[in-house]
Amino acid sequence: MTIDDAPREALRGGPRELLRWVATGAAVSRADLSRLSGLSPSTVSQRVEALINQGLLEETGAGRSRGGRRPRQLAVPTGGAVVGAIDLGAHHARVGTLDLSGRVVQGRTLPVRIEDGPEAVLGALLAEVAALAAAPDDPAASSATGSPTSGAAVGALRGIGIGIPGPVQHATGRIVSPSRMPGWNGFDVAAFCAGRVDVPIIVDNDANLMALGAHRTAYSELDHAVYIKAGTGIGSGVISSGRLHRGAQGSAGDISHCRVVADPAPLCSCGNAGCLEAVASGAALVTALRDQGVPVSDLTGVIRLIDDGDRHATALARQAGRAIGEILAVVVNFFNPQVVAIGGRLADCEPLLASMRATLYERCLPLATQTLLIERVATGQDVGITGAAHLVIDHVVAAN
Ligand SMILES: [Zn+2]
Repeated sequence: MTIDDAPREALRGGPRELLRWVATGAAVSRADLSRLSGLSPSTVSQRVEALINQGLLEETGAGRSRGGRRPRQLAVPTGGAVVGAIDLGAHHARVGTLDLSGRVVQGRTLPVRIEDGPEAVLGALLAEVAALAAAPDDPAASSATGSPTSGAAVGALRGIGIGIPGPVQHATGRIVSPSRMPGWNGFDVAAFCAGRVDVPIIVDNDANLMALGAHRTAYSELDHAVYIKAGTGIGSGVISSGRLHRGAQGSAGDISHCRVVADPAPLCSCGNAGCLEAVASGAALVTALRDQGVPVSDLTGVIRLIDDGDRHATALARQAGRAIGEILAVVVNFFNPQVVAIGGRLADCEPLLASMRATLYERCLPLATQTLLIERVATGQDVGITGAAHLVIDHVVAAN
């Protein structure tokens, strides 16, 4: 074991990891878990019994015998929705229920007006999660009306994970100085939700949730990764030594207000000029096109123009890609990840991705890019709620 391996080795065989091995199909028996973890059969049995008692694992009959008593097979219960998740964006929210393996049972996208303020927005989304939890087998189930939250339905959940498109102080779940979220500054999301539903509430930044969701579903073999979320806003989440890295307060990976070379340097919502968000976010592209006299109302319109080959929109997308690449080059040289993956609505924008990639190769140390993967996050619209569910599952396992 090298010194670099130490952090992962320290986690080896913990209840979270045992659960994950069963959830991913890497292990179906106690013997598999013992072999993977290097732990003794009796230690594994003890931990498995605890997970079974907590309802996090179940036994599903007998496996194949190699002589002697046939071993009992282990599985993660999939009989119903057990975790709630909300991935809030500037204009839409993805809400869902997921099982303990992180599989989406039900997912739904709802329009959101973030400027309506936290009570109205979160109240309606919690009601939606309650409606999904109350009817786990009915895909058409929906409250959609913001009806009062059903305590009974939500009580069946192990917890609700919530992603916020702004900075979240990790220890308190409080939002601190978000851009384009009037009325949300200082709001205590966890306390508000805990007052409405009687289950654990875990709050995090949306880019962190994307990082965790992508890492657990598509990149779990890679220990060091940077995930960029490029939509209306822009941010990133960092996986270091296999774990989500939040830093001291929870702001690690927030690249939105790093300064880039831009002339003229547009004024940012934070009051500085030339921030990455003011140059390269979806909101910045909408503003820049409008300033050029192009009648575009939202990011969907911008993406349509780029897909149609509009030269103004395409030039702006290339400029945005270069700006993201400039900041990421610093991150990659400093952090040396194995993969840089971009998600969010701008990730499908080919000119942006090409410029980002070119800038990274131009500006990074050859050793840093020699084996670096630069690609799209391929996990689709559920990546945020998947990350939210994994946060809750990790919390439930750690608390027991
Ligand atoms: Zn700024």
